[in-house]
Amino acid sequence: MTPKIARFLSHHQPATPCLVMDIDRVEENFRTLQRSLPLARIYYAVKANPAPQVLQRLVRLSSFFDAASAEEIELCLAAGARPEAISFGNTIKKVSAIRQAHNAGVAMYAFDSREELEKLAEHAPGARVYCRILVENEGADWPLSRKFGTTIESARELMLAAGDMGLDPYGLSFHVGSQQTTTRAYEVAIGRVAMLFTDLTDAGVKLRMINLGGGFPTRYRDDVPEIDRFSDAIMRAMTGHFGNALPEMVVEPGRFIVGDAGLVSAEVVLVSQRDRSDPVRWVYLDIGRFGGLAETEGESIKYRIATPHDGSAMGPVAIAGPTCDGADILYEKSNYRLPLALQSGDRVELLSTGAYVTTYASTRFNGFAPLAEYYL
Ligand SMILES: *Cc1c(COP(=O)(O)O)cnc(C)c1O
Repeated sequence: MTPKIARFLSHHQPATPCLVMDIDRVEENFRTLQRSLPLARIYYAVKANPAPQVLQRLVRLSSFFDAASAEEIELCLAAGARPEAISFGNTIKKVSAIRQAHNAGVAMYAFDSREELEKLAEHAPGARVYCRILVENEGADWPLSRKFGTTIESARELMLAAGDMGLDPYGLSFHVGSQQTTTRAYEVAIGRVAMLFTDLTDAGVKLRMINLGGGFPTRYRDDVPEIDRFSDAIMRAMTGHFGNALPEMVVEPGRFIVGDAGLVSAEVVLVSQRDRSDPVRWVYLDIGRFGGLAETEGESIKYRIATPHDGSAMGPVAIAGPTCDGADILYEKSNYRLPLALQSGDRVELLSTGAYVTTYASTRFNGFAPLAEYYL
């Protein structure tokens, strides 16, 4: 928790549940990545947290933006981003959204199929396009494979076709999966796209860019490697394959930029021991799967939880949300332990919840209001 957030919580005691973000930490994370990987252009993945305060700060830092819809493009433009600094990175785009982006001057577009390439050729003629390659997502706590990306063979064909269709075949992309905890995933992926890059260049296609996607991890319950480890591995792989003729490099971090810049302040609604022979207590919070903690699906992302009793004796718990849905369980199998003194009415903090929380919050399921947000 940053000092600014701590001061805000103790002075204002805002109603729970709420997300409190320190925008200075967003800036710090952006600068850290920029220092660590100075040759890459940073396209912030807007979906991680599209709050105007986040986008405006990043605009001031001359960030670029990775947007997934016409609405996210609008948010970037409203925050002051130049259209040339926006990439339409979703491989699944409505025709109306492509037209709107093209009219607004959005610079580049992702695709991973012939059908999408045809839509781009018709509705964004002349645009820069890049093809997303399917790569392994092993090592990622929140995989993004299967749904996106195409094979090397088909990417080769499509990039050759793009020029004939009046588009500018600009580059190749991949995403190693979110909360990626191994550097190897990047090395393997770079190896795959580098071979294709060279092959296409030899075939006369003027490729200029490799988009390494996002995936850089935030520290949750477990430690993760430092960002420099990822940058070193990436630069070693890139220079290994391209030598001094490095293409333009793009990264699309979401979680790394905003994840540890915010926390969710929540209230314990109930602590119960439903079965006296079972030491596991059930802790129900006023936020759950439907209040924004969607990434606890499959217990994938394991948030750290701070309580007013930290340091005292602990016992095993299952942790759930407040709704009347049986799927609204955060952790049952991940061996969470919380203080025995924890009780109804206590305020707790779910740490590093600045990414992928506000936008996943449902509206009014069981009547609960969407997550309140404070940006400091
Ligand atoms: C979600 C997403 C990102 C951001 O991923 P993080 O793991 O949050 O860094 C980047 N690029 C694309 C295409 C995405 O879908």
